[in-house]
Amino acid sequence: MSLLDELNQLRTEALAAFSAAGDAKALEDARIKFIGANGRVKTLLGQLGKAPPDIKPQAGKLGNQIKNELEAAFESAKAANAAKGGVGGVATSAFDISEPLPVESRLSLGRRHPMTRTIDSLVDIFHALGFEIVEGPEIEDQRHNFDDLNIPADHPARDSFDTFFLSGNNQALLRSQTSTVQVRMMESRLPPLRVVAPGRVYRPDQIDATHHSTFHQIEGLYVDKNVSMADLKGTLKLFVGGLFGEDTKVRFRPSFFPFTEPSAELDCSCPACGGTACPVCKQTGWVEMGGCGMVDPAVFEAINSARGDNAYDPEVWSGFAFGFGIERLAMRRHGITDIRRFLENDMRFLRQL
Ligand SMILES: [Zn+2]
Repeated sequence: MSLLDELNQLRTEALAAFSAAGDAKALEDARIKFIGANGRVKTLLGQLGKAPPDIKPQAGKLGNQIKNELEAAFESAKAANAAKGGVGGVATSAFDISEPLPVESRLSLGRRHPMTRTIDSLVDIFHALGFEIVEGPEIEDQRHNFDDLNIPADHPARDSFDTFFLSGNNQALLRSQTSTVQVRMMESRLPPLRVVAPGRVYRPDQIDATHHSTFHQIEGLYVDKNVSMADLKGTLKLFVGGLFGEDTKVRFRPSFFPFTEPSAELDCSCPACGGTACPVCKQTGWVEMGGCGMVDPAVFEAINSARGDNAYDPEVWSGFAFGFGIERLAMRRHGITDIRRFLENDMRFLRQL
């Protein structure tokens, strides 16, 4: 048999062996036998040197052609075998479904923004205290943002330096506080009420490390019979304890807000140093949480006149309200010193949290 005939016969045998291989192991055995480093094709091509000169060029060409053809045939038989194995089936050794992906081809799963996570943890605490979570619109009118909150027409908060007005006649505005949701809740529902409203608010502040034109507040409103300042203090003590730990101390400092009377600022013992003094609390041992107070009867009267009834009779109902800036809490929680980071959406920053 001439070398050319031997090559052709080997080609036929190898193709038959590849197509007959029922699984990855049989296929691999056939590969080693025919086109492996010491396989029959290699051995036969090794004899080229001794072939008669007249068939040598032809045999060399045929040998390379067959080698390439068999390698291609092996690859397609391997692919067909892997497909037959299926993802859910008992995997062939050519296709390992448990092999981890290389790092660079892994999909980024993403995660929730640190603000969202902070809001969720606040909401969880108030939910456990029996508060319902509600929302209101970010585009508001003067009545919900000011009038019904007992903020008179000549109050400085109504100045365009303190509020973003949307239209020429100053009627539509971006809410400057989540207290608007208090008004909407009382307008649309009867007492008793126990709600918190987290959300975005807007003020034309000069933007720096601790001020931004866009930030978040969480507002709380509790209306029932015989609600007192003691209920307010107890509720906020539980809230601060849930947030920073049960040992956290609270203090209330007298303050003024148009929609509460009496009003107070809530401080809690510094969660960073436990109240001993550190840079976070500016060496005072206390950090500011936000404002609170008993709902001013004038607010109930304004709601009643908007509703056209006496549902919130100040002789019958009383309540407390509070509002906290959420960025400040998130900054404290994550040790962030620049409020602008929350809105820049810089992935290098967000991935660290
Ligand atoms: Zn401190």
